[in-house]
Amino acid sequence: MASPAKVKTLTTSDPHAVTEALNPKTTKFEFAGPIGALGVSVVTPVTLYLLHLGCSEISGGCPPPLLSLPSTLQSSRWLNAMWDTNVFLVYLGWYAYCLLCWRVIPGDWVEGTVLRNGGKKLYKMNGFACGLLTLGLVVGIILHHGPLSFTYIYDHYLALVSASIVFAFFQACAVYALSFRKGALLALGGNSGNVLYDWFIGRELNPSFPWADSINFDLKTFNEVRPGLILWLLNDISCMCEQMVRRGRHAWPTDSMILINLFQGLYVVESLWNEKNILTQMDITSDGFGFMLAIGDLAWVPFSYALQARYLAFTPRELGWVQSAIVFALNFAGYYIFRVSNTDKDNFRHGKNPKNNLKSMKTARGTELITSGWWGLSRHPNYWGDWMMALAWCMTTGFHTPITYFYIVFFVVLLTHRAMRDDEACRNKYGDDWDKYKKIVKWRIIPYIY
Ligand code: NDP
Repeated sequence: MASPAKVKTLTTSDPHAVTEALNPKTTKFEFAGPIGALGVSVVTPVTLYLLHLGCSEISGGCPPPLLSLPSTLQSSRWLNAMWDTNVFLVYLGWYAYCLLCWRVIPGDWVEGTVLRNGGKKLYKMNGFACGLLTLGLVVGIILHHGPLSFTYIYDHYLALVSASIVFAFFQACAVYALSFRKGALLALGGNSGNVLYDWFIGRELNPSFPWADSINFDLKTFNEVRPGLILWLLNDISCMCEQMVRRGRHAWPTDSMILINLFQGLYVVESLWNEKNILTQMDITSDGFGFMLAIGDLAWVPFSYALQARYLAFTPRELGWVQSAIVFALNFAGYYIFRVSNTDKDNFRHGKNPKNNLKSMKTARGTELITSGWWGLSRHPNYWGDWMMALAWCMTTGFHTPITYFYIVFFVVLLTHRAMRDDEACRNKYGDDWDKYKKIVKWRIIPYIY
């Protein structure tokens, strides 16, 4: 492990390290260019509201009767619930609390991948400790004061969604403006010159500002694992508390509510535990930080991913032993594939192949590609495990409404698109070797299917 004192990092704001040649113009658009960027920027927040409109008590059910929708939209109750300045301040307080935890809780300092300017960034790894502290505080509050003391997130859901969207919007504008300072290392895909597109996709690779540089604070990784991911878990817990309050004194949550909290809690906690794994992910190594990542991390993850728990809060359902066992088995089979494949790749990339059991292919780029084990079955076995978990999460709500299955549909689209983006990025990185590798490992995600 490195420490900030021992390692000389070339930060991205080093004016001598970044020349114009390092920041070439982006000539190829993703997401269908500026029109697509505008579309995603509008559709993402609208979808967050629609998920509430289409599945909530205020609107009359999940889904509500179609005829009631116009009156719901006009009703002051729904509109009033959308904005609350106090809630916005609470949200800012939450973000500040996460910053404080990052700053004061000790953690290992880990080097990221080599940047185009030859430098490396240092990242503080204390996400797990921050998550654990927060969880401890929340559990302490609930045990001491009862479930009613932790229904705030459920009660102010729409206002919190709005607060996170507004905050993400301003954050994206700020980092876009700051990316014009001298010496900024831009993302290869975010320097098209089109304001809307670059703002959306992220103009600067690792947005920074003077005080952040001096303490090695990285906004992109911070946003990715802390304020949104931990809030997702708190959101689930808040929904569980709401359900308990409704079921009456001393009542337990339903089995479905326990399962969704267990599954998603494990996913969040283990992401925090394996925090350093994100340093080799595409979002960190090559994507810039713009509105796409800001709204994804801060609003989409904590609020759309908690849809099942929110539904179960106002529609309690018992699954029974058989259905619970099926959902449990599906989740943990998916988790096994997800964890083993991600660990295999991560160990391999860190020069560890303990039993030398993984075959690999040499490439002209220098890094080898695994061609056996899970990575011999498909080019993204970890996505396949993630999909199985996503399906299990949706199935905790039974088969009473299609709306709670939104997550699996969205996730199939997201990871299929991500696999295509990664395929293109790897073609650029590995050239002809990538085509050779694709002949050895033929399937994209699920063997014999896709
Ligand atoms: P991958 O973990 O598949 O990483 C792709 C990279 O791995 C490639 O660019 C390449 O980089 C390297 N690689 C590809 N093939 C091989 C190989 N055969 N051997 C060794 N290295 C290889 O994708 P992601 O980073 O997108 O996903 C990581 C995890 O995060 C997944 O489990 C995914 O499901 C999850 N995820 C979850 C999301 C959510 O919202 N819940 C969103 C996005 C992802 P290089 O060769 O340069 O090392």
